[in-house]
Amino acid sequence: MTDAERKMQFLFALRSRGVTDGRVLTAMEKIDRGPFVKGIFADRAYEDMPLPIACGQTISQPSVVGLMTQALNVQPRDKVLEVGTGSGYQAAILSQLARRVYTVDRHQRLVQEARAVFQALDLTNITAFTADGSHGLADQAPFDRIIVTAAAEDPPGPLLAQLKIGGIMVVPVGQSDAVQSLIQVKRTDKGYDYNELRPVRFVPLLEGVGKE
Ligand code: SAH
Repeated sequence: MTDAERKMQFLFALRSRGVTDGRVLTAMEKIDRGPFVKGIFADRAYEDMPLPIACGQTISQPSVVGLMTQALNVQPRDKVLEVGTGSGYQAAILSQLARRVYTVDRHQRLVQEARAVFQALDLTNITAFTADGSHGLADQAPFDRIIVTAAAEDPPGPLLAQLKIGGIMVVPVGQSDAVQSLIQVKRTDKGYDYNELRPVRFVPLLEGVGKE
């Protein structure tokens, strides 16, 4: 298969799984998933599958990245927080749609590797930190959009608090060993509206920072 055919197939898979937002598709066409997948799985980067990355974590399935990004409804002036940098792929997609992206992971190694890819791709509006993202990022709060790419039992309180009124958060909620529900939370001036989107499977949101 040629690169062009592989790309066509990649975009077709996204569309057929419900990623229809033109801006999201354009961002996913532009950001090549290849550099975010390393080692023996590199040649499977264009398949619509989650793949293993360092520190026992996973890069999400492209169609799930697309659906979550779509549910986040990012606007060009938005400041976005991502909890769970992993490979950096989701943050790179967000960087095409938002003004600024802050992304945090509890594994320093993943943050360092993701930073190197952001630099290589010249994605200068992403800032990556090593931290326990369940506390959010108080220094940069509040955020227009928050995306959590690890499963929490409930949407973490500090993240709800760091969402602007009118803001949107997308978070997988449920036990880590079972199928979870992807939830879209909208903050209004009266409180929070919750909308259940679809079943998903994510690695767990863990406390504290990792050993590597
Ligand atoms: N968005 C990533 C995939 C994330 S996998 C991508 O596009 O590749 C989930 C990530 O969440 C893992 O890297 C894991 O280390 C991280 N994570 C889990 N609990 C966390 C926490 N409390 N704070 C920050 N990151 C966390």
